[in-house]
Amino acid sequence: MNEELRRYLIQHYSHLLSKEENQALSQVCLTKEQKEKWSKPRNKEGLINLKIQDFYGFDNPKVDELVALGQEKLIAQLTNQLLAKHSDKVFLNYCPKCNELARTPKAKQCRFCNHSWR
Ligand SMILES: [Zn+2]
Repeated sequence: MNEELRRYLIQHYSHLLSKEENQALSQVCLTKEQKEKWSKPRNKEGLINLKIQDFYGFDNPKVDELVALGQEKLIAQLTNQLLAKHSDKVFLNYCPKCNELARTPKAKQCRFCNHSWR
């Protein structure tokens, strides 16, 4: 699977992944400094930042396990899984003329050859 296809799958079909998988995907995009700052259970006002906690899933062993794979492996694993488990819901929108992958599942025009299939 090429990078283009992986990006397309994550961008348009991450809602088919579990909450923990999405949290891990968000976490692997953080810098070290962001992670250190946001993963603390309490901010300086002494309040637990539940929204951030919920978005990134810090301190969840299931999420930690996925994050430990690293960005590249995690994305490879999740995109393979999307194609294997959800092939009925995933639409790979290839141009009928040049067979390149369109930008979105609903696109009706090719960004490579400009062919339109409206
Ligand atoms: Zn095309």
